[in-house]
Amino acid sequence: STRASAILSALDIPTDPIELDGVYDGEWKGSGDVLESICPATGEVLARVKSASPKELHTAIVKSREAYSQFKSVPAPRRGDIVRQIREALASKREELGALVSLEMGKIRTEGVGEVQEFVDICDYATGLSRMMNGRVVSSERPGHSILEVPNPLGVIGVLSAFNFPVAVYGWNLAISLAAGNATIWKPAPTTPLCALAITRVVSTVLERNGIPGAVAALVIGGRDAGEALVQNKDIDLGMNGFSSPFSALIFILFHPTSVSFTGSEAVGRVVGKVVQARFGKVLLELGGNNAAIVAPSADLTLAIPAVFFGAVGTAGQRCTSTRRLFLHRSIASEFLSRLQSLYESLTPGDPLVSSTLLGPLHSRAAMGIFGAAVADLNHTGAEILAGGSPWSGLETALRSGNYVQPTIAIPSSLPDTQDGIWTTERFAPVLNVAIFDELEEAIAWNNAVPQGLSSSLWTRDLRDMGKWIGPAGSDTGIVNVNVGTSGAEIGAAFGGNKSTGWGRESGGDAWKQYVRWSACTVNYSDAAPLAQGVSFTV
Ligand code: NAD
Repeated sequence: STRASAILSALDIPTDPIELDGVYDGEWKGSGDVLESICPATGEVLARVKSASPKELHTAIVKSREAYSQFKSVPAPRRGDIVRQIREALASKREELGALVSLEMGKIRTEGVGEVQEFVDICDYATGLSRMMNGRVVSSERPGHSILEVPNPLGVIGVLSAFNFPVAVYGWNLAISLAAGNATIWKPAPTTPLCALAITRVVSTVLERNGIPGAVAALVIGGRDAGEALVQNKDIDLGMNGFSSPFSALIFILFHPTSVSFTGSEAVGRVVGKVVQARFGKVLLELGGNNAAIVAPSADLTLAIPAVFFGAVGTAGQRCTSTRRLFLHRSIASEFLSRLQSLYESLTPGDPLVSSTLLGPLHSRAAMGIFGAAVADLNHTGAEILAGGSPWSGLETALRSGNYVQPTIAIPSSLPDTQDGIWTTERFAPVLNVAIFDELEEAIAWNNAVPQGLSSSLWTRDLRDMGKWIGPAGSDTGIVNVNVGTSGAEIGAAFGGNKSTGWGRESGGDAWKQYVRWSACTVNYSDAAPLAQGVSFTV
């Protein structure tokens, strides 16, 4: 369509029906299975991309390791300057890249541009950090001794990312990882290959211009059901030159790089975590959320209602931090729900590229299936459906093949702490489950009664509620907000969740400390060699 070709040609991505190379290791190549990039809004095939063959994947890993041995000795402030140049290159294409995110992932345009902006922001952060990734000097108990805690680069980091943030999640990892002196090898979601290609082109141009081997930021697009692969291919030969199937190639990524940063579902994260842990590699997991908003009696509803609406419906409910559970105090519940329902009723979906659109499509047919199953479960168990509950019909012709659903509000028949799957499972679709509470302690217990622990938010004007919420008897999630919705984090604070969300932290805060290896170095500058703890060992 002209809509798609304008965006692709602005980024120099060929629009002819040719197959694009999906591997970059200093050179572009690709001879594996062909993946299709499908527009979620229209169903059209945007491009065909050749994924990594097993041999190409192996070569990319070997080249990343070689690139790392060179890059690790580049001084950190110089690495920071390269990150700064990547920032400039991304910022100059912010609108075009943002439109591509919107076209291929399906999120609305301002969110697509916002994702690119997050990458720009984290580059700024990492550039500054490159001059501040300091160790410490620790007091020694021995005279004439110094102890230094020294951070050094870690190695090659495998970055496996999810479809819903096809740019920003890689950005969080790449910027910090580069500043820390590592090489990365990126395996994006198989349904967002164009975003990965476009970003890698920008990054590789900067690296090449600076004489840095491109495999410092390698890309291997690969796909299909890699989870199945992990289960099926048990006889992996780690020293091999080829793989028994494309799937075992992916396992090679999990085994080979020093560290793996995985963003995705709890189910796949559980497998990835075990594989990497089994070889004592470092693993950083950013998995699913099941985020609750609690509205206390004193809450300012004019703030809380639009925030819950955005949290539940924004990105068509496909953020890891989307609001999935809503706990309302009995005194405000009926007013809150009727105002929220009106907002839901006023919503019409549209082309995510059109600036007035607030509700875009789900990303894929698979996501439609997840929505359908969630609603079917609610119906079977006698939930009350207050809004939505079906795929969207009656759309304009161009969008009829798109993945559009009605955002749904339900009051399940069970209570939120009953371990019912309706409450305990992350459904990656715009479905909001509601329950009514009488005491804040009850709502906090419900908030904590699920396996996941990513984000949560309390709406209150009572200082006592806030104190309880952020303290030891409060929310157990990694992101704990007050009068701020569950979604929409800033890069400055470390981002991630507890419990089955995987305990990972990325982006700001102290997250960089995971991207380096730490050594405690004791240096003796005295004329004696005393042992620690006063031990005497002389014969
Ligand atoms: P997914 O788990 O299906 O896929 C994630 C990535 O893993 C993809 O690149 C996929 O190709 C790859 N993969 C699949 N099976 C694999 C295997 N066996 N071994 C190695 N890699 C494998 O997730 P998704 O559907 O793309 O994304 C949605 C999920 O991601 C949701 O659960 C969401 O909450 C989560 N998510 C979490 C965060 C966070 O920061 N906590 C951010 C974004 C998304």
